[in-house]
Amino acid sequence: MLFLFLSTWTVPGLIAQDTSALRKYRTKRVVILVIDGPRFTETWGDTTYKYIPHQSNEIAESGVLCTDFYNDGFTYTTSGHAAICTGVRQELENSKGSDLPQQPSIFQYYLKKSGVPSTKAWVITSKDKLFILGNCNDPAWKGKYMPSIDCGINGQGSGYRNDSITFLKTMSVLKNQQPNLLLVNFKEPDGAGHANDWNGYLKGIKDTDSLVWEIWKFLQSDPYYKDQTALFITNDHGRHTEGVKDGFVNHGDDCDGCRHISLLACGPDFRHNVVYDKRSVQVDIPATVGELMGFSMPDCQGKVIKKLFKESHVK
Ligand SMILES: [Zn+2]
Ligand SMILES: [Zn+2]
Repeated sequence: MLFLFLSTWTVPGLIAQDTSALRKYRTKRVVILVIDGPRFTETWGDTTYKYIPHQSNEIAESGVLCTDFYNDGFTYTTSGHAAICTGVRQELENSKGSDLPQQPSIFQYYLKKSGVPSTKAWVITSKDKLFILGNCNDPAWKGKYMPSIDCGINGQGSGYRNDSITFLKTMSVLKNQQPNLLLVNFKEPDGAGHANDWNGYLKGIKDTDSLVWEIWKFLQSDPYYKDQTALFITNDHGRHTEGVKDGFVNHGDDCDGCRHISLLACGPDFRHNVVYDKRSVQVDIPATVGELMGFSMPDCQGKVIKKLFKESHVK
């Protein structure tokens, strides 16, 4: 009898240590896929969806498509990714990755909060300079709770690698490390755009759509991810609107082409087959990830996109 009494008395204390038992969401893992640099006009803004057949025909019905979604900060790769990871709009050096983000990222908050090893949070990117997403300059966080990273050919300064390599690495990490929080960057639309290669740019959008589709299928079938993973498919920035400077070749200002991107969000706690056409922005992604994963980000400039969530969850 005494044993039973002690058992029932101690169990709530044990449960309190395990945040998963207190969670209000079914989502246990988050995967963010960032397609680098397509304009909205060639993705969801083209209503034939011919360059994103898998996202439009096969993935969108399982989630919420945010069509009025923006980079409202600095429309460059490092800044766009830093906004997605830290929730703070900030100007960062964009060629070598010589600036770390100022504030801690979702990865650092998650690793600190959960206490799990760094192999449970990953940053896998075609662009080497995005190694900066693994750390920050905040003295209280710098060098701590850093995620595992695999960036570019061989890390900082090694150059960009093909998205097919990034894809293989991503699948290997998903299968062998089973991360609970993962960000992947695919570079090709941006790379072909800067090369003034219009057909290559369109092919880059289509090829990355196929890679996203392969990852999607894995997440739907693997027991570790199935029915417990939120997937965010988004962009770091767009490209200049035709008629603005050199059009699709570059980006970096505040024209609509550079700012207007997209977010497709799927997961067990999100609505299905919904188009959300009210404004939301990049820094809202980490706020929403924090809500799902149970950590708060004091510096985050975004807010939870409540309209992603099923009605029963909307506060
Ligand atoms: Zn670029
Ligand atoms: Zn522009």
